[in-house]
Amino acid sequence: MNRESIYGLTFDQLAAWLLEYGHKKFRATQVWEWLYRKRVTSFSDMTDVNPDCIQLLADHYVIQTLEEHVKQASADGTVKFLFKLQDGNLIETVLMRHKFGLSVCVTTQVGCNIGCSFCASGLLSKSRDLSSGEIVEQIMNVQLHLDQAGKAERVSHIVVMGIGEPFDNFENLSSFITVVKDHKGLAIGPRHITVSTSGLVPKIMEFADSDMQTNLAISLHAPNNELRTRIMKINRAYPIEKLMQAIDYYLDKTNRRITLEYILLKDVNDQREHALELAELIGDRRQLANVNLIPYNPVDEHSQYQRSTQESIDAFYDTLKKQGVSCSVRLEHGTDIDAACGQLRSKQIKKSAKGESAADRVVSQ
Ligand code: SF4
Repeated sequence: MNRESIYGLTFDQLAAWLLEYGHKKFRATQVWEWLYRKRVTSFSDMTDVNPDCIQLLADHYVIQTLEEHVKQASADGTVKFLFKLQDGNLIETVLMRHKFGLSVCVTTQVGCNIGCSFCASGLLSKSRDLSSGEIVEQIMNVQLHLDQAGKAERVSHIVVMGIGEPFDNFENLSSFITVVKDHKGLAIGPRHITVSTSGLVPKIMEFADSDMQTNLAISLHAPNNELRTRIMKINRAYPIEKLMQAIDYYLDKTNRRITLEYILLKDVNDQREHALELAELIGDRRQLANVNLIPYNPVDEHSQYQRSTQESIDAFYDTLKKQGVSCSVRLEHGTDIDAACGQLRSKQIKKSAKGESAADRVVSQ
């Protein structure tokens, strides 16, 4: 049986587990430091940890379970990683460079069941949730990639926007956030972490009540039910009225700003009337909401959707601004590589199905 990654344990879980085997709490502090500050990849490198404890760790856990399968680097510094899990499944992780720091977009599930009609990731339905260790490992692998470059760069921000619906894997998401926030380890502040949901209403409320305290982004993508149901079938279960109620609950409870994501699809949801309807929907939540407009990256499988023209993007933005809505247009990353979320993974899976060798798939630079 495959052993799990030790990254799946929070500090308290690690300390409690070591205590069960007679090891004092300071051992957990040492191990934690080796994992997240010195970032060793083998238990035997933890030189100040006693041999009994090293053996115990090695008997029950491994550090790394992810294998780098493909790495694509873009001219703008974006790096897309395709990792192979122990069960052979592939997941995608992206490192992006911004003026404010380095962010990593992580995946939370193998495939996705939400089935948004524009999404390359949702083409393959969910086969399983990722463990919290597998989510943490994505960050650690990207950090190791940075460490190897020797420029003393560190992952400063995390966006949970990769493949999968994070709130459909709530417990592991919560554990992942506890680990990456831990000030003794990676110490990534909750305001530097954004979780994006397609709109699972009960989970938005649970999230508001939780101690995760990260930023929240909601994939809205349409200003009315008719259009939203067409684009996102989740809207049948949680229509816009219910979603707005959950958003109000979140805003009341946390008083934190929220991001509303809006993917611009040519002649589908990108007209002036849609912008006006969106402004009306946001209504007096304007103070606490920011609309993030996302120019669409077309994928072959969804040929019904095209990218909005630059004029439409600008006009949509201007209309929202004139209505007093705070908004921004998402900067694009890695446009010279497989830019759409899940595109690299779905391409590689298709190539594998055609029997191309691993050597054909190595595109790292
Ligand atoms: S956009 Fe997100 S929630 Fe929707 S199908 Fe794709 S991965 Fe799933």
